[in-house]
Amino acid sequence: MIRSVKGTHDILPDKTGLWRKIETALHSFMHKYDYGEIRTPIFEKTELFKRGVGEETDIVSKEMYSWTDQGGEKLTLKPELTAPVVRSFIQHNLGSQSAVNRLYYMDALFRRERPQKGRTRQFHQFGAEVFGSEHPEADAEIIAISYNFFKNLGIGNLTLTLNSIGSDDCRNNYRNELRKYLKPFSSNLTETSQNRFKKNPLRILDTKIEHEKEIIKNAPEIDNFLTDDDKSHFEEVKSLLNDLSIPFVIDSQMVRGLDYYTRTTYEITSSVLGAQDALCGGGRYDKLVETLGGKPTPAVGFAAGIERLLLALESKTAESGDKVIQINIIGLTKKVRSKCQVLAQELRGKGFSVSTDLLRRSLKSLLREANRNSARIAIIIGDDDLANNTVQVKDMGTGEQITIIKNTLIEHLTDLDF
Ligand code: AMP
Repeated sequence: MIRSVKGTHDILPDKTGLWRKIETALHSFMHKYDYGEIRTPIFEKTELFKRGVGEETDIVSKEMYSWTDQGGEKLTLKPELTAPVVRSFIQHNLGSQSAVNRLYYMDALFRRERPQKGRTRQFHQFGAEVFGSEHPEADAEIIAISYNFFKNLGIGNLTLTLNSIGSDDCRNNYRNELRKYLKPFSSNLTETSQNRFKKNPLRILDTKIEHEKEIIKNAPEIDNFLTDDDKSHFEEVKSLLNDLSIPFVIDSQMVRGLDYYTRTTYEITSSVLGAQDALCGGGRYDKLVETLGGKPTPAVGFAAGIERLLLALESKTAESGDKVIQINIIGLTKKVRSKCQVLAQELRGKGFSVSTDLLRRSLKSLLREANRNSARIAIIIGDDDLANNTVQVKDMGTGEQITIIKNTLIEHLTDLDF
């Protein structure tokens, strides 16, 4: 048997209802904030992620699904969504059409990580990006969207962790100080961290290795290196969040796994999730548009994992979110079989959801199936009904069965409260 690739999952009909519920909620929520949906291709040139996300990040250095196609082009399945959105923003010149561009998306991503609960190799994210504003209002808007979306869905125990990693000047000074601090520990660092020490020591703060975590515990903190402008920007973001009644905690060692952030970075976690507790991450990236060849454009965004959101929702309710079938049609004899199909088509045309039998089963087993489907009504047709132009309508809740003249069936069903 050929099984699905490790770290990928099928989403079966008992779950797709909940997915659609989240998708519908997201579209209507983003509409309220005046964001437009953007969809970008599933693969891009590898160069986009190397330049956009950063060669030193885990994503680019270890996790990408990349290949060279028949024409010799180096391509990669999207491992993150901000770089493609920025590429599209530049390519379509969106910045010249409107001073502020608000975009959102929902998409599949691919990272070759070690699979575990809440971490897969194909997963899905939704997110939003706002281009064109350097002001703290944009940071606060993005944070509020993500926080309020989770809150509105009823996800409990949310923690918003916030930090500012400053502008370029701040990070250059900080990088030097961090190197000075880490130098004496250099022989205790892993090979990956030793490479990062040279190229981008901030990445070492992201380490998952216990003895390295101990080392960075006493490392200098970035907030001591923020410029006055960085500080006042951060203060305004915090004050806006307070005004919007969005609680947060500060973690001055949170740098996040992507290289493109400047100033604000944040993460939202929920303790109902267990080890992989991050629902969403985001921040400001004022240099990325320029890095990818566009005009300098400040921007802020976030991305949230949909599988994680589902896990958080499942811990709240077992509900599948899908609509049950309304009507099962049961034919009792060979003669009425085609009539059942015709009636089903007619009823679907009137907006009902209808299931018919494909296995030519007995009345008993079909009623059992109607029960299993949680059908509201079973319509039973026998030879007598064919002769008399009637159908039997059985209420699956009460068990009551009545004979209805076929011509009045739609009227009868419309009067029922489905
Ligand atoms: P990132 O793009 O790494 O900032 O991740 C943003 C969000 O995507 C995280 O907070 C998770 O909710 C989700 N996420 C990241 N990686 C995975 C993965 N491998 N499997 C499932 N969800 C993920």
